[in-house]
Amino acid sequence: MSSRRIQIFDTTLRDGEQSPGIALRPEEKVEIAEQLERLGVDVIEAGFAAASPGDFEGVRAVAAVARRATVATLCRTRREDLDAGADALRDARRSRLHIFLATSPIHMQKKLRLTPDEVAAQAAWAVGYARGRVDEVEFSCEDATRSDPVFVARVCREVIAAGADVVNLPDTVGYALPNEYAGFFDEVRRLSPELESVTISAHCHDDLGLAVANSLAAVEAGVGQVECTMNGIGERAGNAALEEIVMALRVREERLGVDTGIDLAEIGASSALVERLTGYAVPPNKAIVGANAFAHEAGIHQDGLLKDTTTYQIIEPKELGLAMTLPLGKHSGRHAFARACADAGLQLDEELLSRAFMRFKALADSGIVDVTAA
Ligand SMILES: [Zn+2]
Repeated sequence: MSSRRIQIFDTTLRDGEQSPGIALRPEEKVEIAEQLERLGVDVIEAGFAAASPGDFEGVRAVAAVARRATVATLCRTRREDLDAGADALRDARRSRLHIFLATSPIHMQKKLRLTPDEVAAQAAWAVGYARGRVDEVEFSCEDATRSDPVFVARVCREVIAAGADVVNLPDTVGYALPNEYAGFFDEVRRLSPELESVTISAHCHDDLGLAVANSLAAVEAGVGQVECTMNGIGERAGNAALEEIVMALRVREERLGVDTGIDLAEIGASSALVERLTGYAVPPNKAIVGANAFAHEAGIHQDGLLKDTTTYQIIEPKELGLAMTLPLGKHSGRHAFARACADAGLQLDEELLSRAFMRFKALADSGIVDVTAA
């Protein structure tokens, strides 16, 4: 059975950049975009062109260098946003305006102060205005998961009639549970069969630590595009992490039957570049790209790994441009200690090795030793 190919929409340069304290210069956005192209993402959301002159310049610069990926920019349903977005994307090989408007009662009443009829009309107007100015138009029902599915389905119908190519139903505030999010897609698709003619997209935030789980639930529910960021950076608790989604789909491909165009060998380099240019350090215990994601200190694990790495690793880190490490500490065993001594060029007989190991254990127990064997 061949796998279904889904699109990876990377928003590191837009939603990721909206993390408090990150401001990437245009040349830094270009450097990341070039790496994202090597990584093989399908869409690069480069910024919010109308947000600032610097962001306009960042989107323009990324549009000019991207050779393979579609370049997108975020827009409100305002003429000035759509004009600025289309203008910034003028040099793109393939361009996309990503328009959003909230559909939840909370946002419509408290933030927008618009009626549902006004929201539906504005959404359709903006999509119609964008169509023809760029190659593709995406519409997002902001705060979809706290919206009435009947109203979301109506907005979907209207924006598709106005020419939307992609419809995104984001979990903007990280509120949904995985099976609930999957059920939401099922329900909206049932109410709006027009969705079968466009690409349906998921976009998740990690406020409850469920962004990746929700994204995978959406994939199982049949979406054709997932929006995510490198290292999971983004507003508040962050977005769904690209590397986690991609590796879950790869490691469990037999079960999920879904494939991406990502070159796994570029994951390590992409993570490191985003970490360096954003200044957002990757936590050591972060899945896939954390410094300890493939580090094993416990003796029983080290012994198993030295016999066969699949005993305690479901991913071969070398395939991602990363390395397994066996740091030595109080939990380490004799097998890994002997390997570390041999790697350091120490020829120890059994007697010496035993004495050295006992002294090492005593030191490690005292908490003052920090020995690392790569
Ligand atoms: Zn978002």
